[in-house]
Amino acid sequence: MSSEFNLIDKFFVHGNLTREDVDLGIGDDCALVTVPENHQVAITTDTLAAGTHFLATANPISVGYKALASNLSDIAAMGAKPTWVSLALTLPKPDEEWLNGFCKGFFGLAKQHHVQLIGGDTTKGPLSITITVQGIIPKGEALTRKGAQAGDDIYVTGLLGDSAAGLEVLLNTSKQIKTDLEIELEHRHYYSTPKVELAQRLRPLCHSALDISDGLISDLGHILKQSDMNACIDVSKLPISDELMKYYSGNREQCQKTALTSGEEYELCFTAPKENREAIKQITILLNQNVSIIGKVVDKPFTNLQSSVQLMVNNIMLDWQLCGYDHFRSEI
Ligand code: ADP
Ligand code: MG
Repeated sequence: MSSEFNLIDKFFVHGNLTREDVDLGIGDDCALVTVPENHQVAITTDTLAAGTHFLATANPISVGYKALASNLSDIAAMGAKPTWVSLALTLPKPDEEWLNGFCKGFFGLAKQHHVQLIGGDTTKGPLSITITVQGIIPKGEALTRKGAQAGDDIYVTGLLGDSAAGLEVLLNTSKQIKTDLEIELEHRHYYSTPKVELAQRLRPLCHSALDISDGLISDLGHILKQSDMNACIDVSKLPISDELMKYYSGNREQCQKTALTSGEEYELCFTAPKENREAIKQITILLNQNVSIIGKVVDKPFTNLQSSVQLMVNNIMLDWQLCGYDHFRSEI
């Protein structure tokens, strides 16, 4: 791209913050950072492609926010502290208005978490954003998907289902005027809050964790598979917003099914032993965050998602056939 260097200076050097552990930032062939002693680096990458993860016409502020938020959520899920980010941008043209909006969303969130942009790449092509976030964590303390133990409580943070409802709203282009409720749900689809601080505090109390990007059921399946366990979920315990209930006209079952399959929630699902309940509660009160216990880990070898997750309500088994979340298709 002919104006690549101007663009980098104008948008990605200004607006950035500086961290003391960055020895060399944007401008050379590589960035150089210093990792604190006895720490490991947690690294995650996510791509957001226009037409698959967001509409090309979407507000660039929300795209910049969401692109970084999804990566920060992965770092949170390991219990790590995010520190550095790289940004690979593919743009059809050097659209300054779009870049202004994107940077507003991106740097707004980066600043909240004291994360420095340390490099990236800028090329021409169909709109796509690839972000790599790195974080630090004391050696050997990362929360993985592997450690769930029999009898563990299964927790989720925040509320579930709003993201899927918001996506439904924003894809419904036949509707010209949206209600306040629909606008709110659409907003929740784009603006999840990565549970970075909460996860670092909960880390010593948990056995396993991940973030919900493909739907609770399907993501919980990853914990169960890697831990070789089963789970029992009480669907009446799923945290559902008043807004979602309103959106589905009070149909609780529909809300629960949405909560189980809604993707791009960027909430955490984690397991922890019963004896840590009180300590976990104290942390959530301190940070003013909500967590819900939605079920427990059952000591049985994992076979497949359908037979290894038992859904219940009032001690009655449910035979809901649920599939995971699908990003919308590229022809949209
Ligand atoms: P190279 O060709 O050696 O990979 P570039 O010319 O692509 O370097 O980039 C020059 C500098 O600008 C590098 O330090 C690179 O990390 C940084 N950079 C390029 N694009 C971006 C971007 N979108 N965000 C942040 N830094 C970027
Ligand atoms: Mg380059």
